[in-house]
Amino acid sequence: MRIAMISEHASPIAVLGEEDTGGQHTHVAELAAALVGEGHDVRVYTRRDSTVLPDAVSTPDGYQVCHVPAGPAKRVPKDDLLPYMGEFGSWLADTWRHGDWTPDVAHAHFWLSGLATVHAGRRTGVPTVLTYHALGSVKRRHLGARDTSPPGRVGYERALGRAVDRVVVQCEDEVAELVRMGVPRSRMALVPAGVNQSVFCPDGPVAPRDPARPRILTVGRMVERKGFLDVVRALPAVPDAECVVVGGPAAELLPADSFARRLRALADACGVADRVKLVGGVPREDLAAWYRSTDVLVTAPWYEPFGLTPLEGMACGVPVVGTDVGGITDTVVDGLTGDLVPPRDPRTLGTTIRRLLADKVRRFTYATAALDRIRSRYSWKRCAEQLGAVYATVATVARPAAAVA
Ligand code: UDP
Repeated sequence: MRIAMISEHASPIAVLGEEDTGGQHTHVAELAAALVGEGHDVRVYTRRDSTVLPDAVSTPDGYQVCHVPAGPAKRVPKDDLLPYMGEFGSWLADTWRHGDWTPDVAHAHFWLSGLATVHAGRRTGVPTVLTYHALGSVKRRHLGARDTSPPGRVGYERALGRAVDRVVVQCEDEVAELVRMGVPRSRMALVPAGVNQSVFCPDGPVAPRDPARPRILTVGRMVERKGFLDVVRALPAVPDAECVVVGGPAAELLPADSFARRLRALADACGVADRVKLVGGVPREDLAAWYRSTDVLVTAPWYEPFGLTPLEGMACGVPVVGTDVGGITDTVVDGLTGDLVPPRDPRTLGTTIRRLLADKVRRFTYATAALDRIRSRYSWKRCAEQLGAVYATVATVARPAAAVA
């Protein structure tokens, strides 16, 4: 099949770790590569956010990335991209109608891409699929007034749930949230993301560490909802352990990063500054060495649409202590591959980490079960096969293109 993937802010070839760059970039890159591996012809459409980008780039994984002119050719925070989605969708429609490549299906990633894709789909007759990645209603619930999403986001997301041909959801928690929003269950296909098991595997280089001191690792973007502050607050209950934080801007830019400064100040106030090490963002291929170096991976977000980092840690054979939210509730099996704790509860987090660090046998059994679970359920190949079946269902439903320019 010819598959268009639309990912307006998350280019699969961008550098990861900064505020707006994370799991969606990885997801689109890995999924595009896996779909090519299944024999599909894949193009990823992302917004041109720099003047130096070429119109199209062929990646070593065999898919093409097309840079769509919509809005200014510079970085724009994703919360400010809504005004450009009509232009994005019109450009897609023109290209698919008049170019030499028309997709059999268009898969949008994130609600903004969904708007552009539905716009293009209506004008061309191309069937549409949407993965939300994150939902505005959940963000609003957790961040309240600090949520910087455009005010109409939740309404758009609700409407998109009925406008696209199929919604691809990633976890049970998302199913429940969408049902509450009025999206019928029958419109959804549950297809969890995967993990690249040739990058994230138990064997390979290991980041340096002090063998005499237990290590806990936490990985992700430097934003409050990822729960790094809660991990630091939990540290006094975990004597001796060092806490390594990977993510955010590159190491040399950390001193100027306001969240990194906040994290350091909190570590000082909690009397654990000498045990907290901020590494900064690292390329994904270097991340596996950090996972392999740790005794426990801690992932403590307040909410998490899916959460690739726990999967990556599990694939490296690491037990996970995670908060019982979103996708983590599905991926980490409490008492089997790790421990689940309530979000925003540093006290329980601390005692849970301490107990696990003190129990080598339990860490070993969790790690073994985690690896089994990853190998049997979470490969990108499996994800691509399941999505291929979803695409085939929607692509057979022929529909005329609206006669709108
Ligand atoms: N990541 C990375 N380098 C870093 C920190 C994170 O490459 O320094 C990647 C990580 O491997 C994962 C993604 O960023 O694939 C984060 O995805 P996740 O779903 O955990 O969180 P999100 O950023 O989507 O909220």
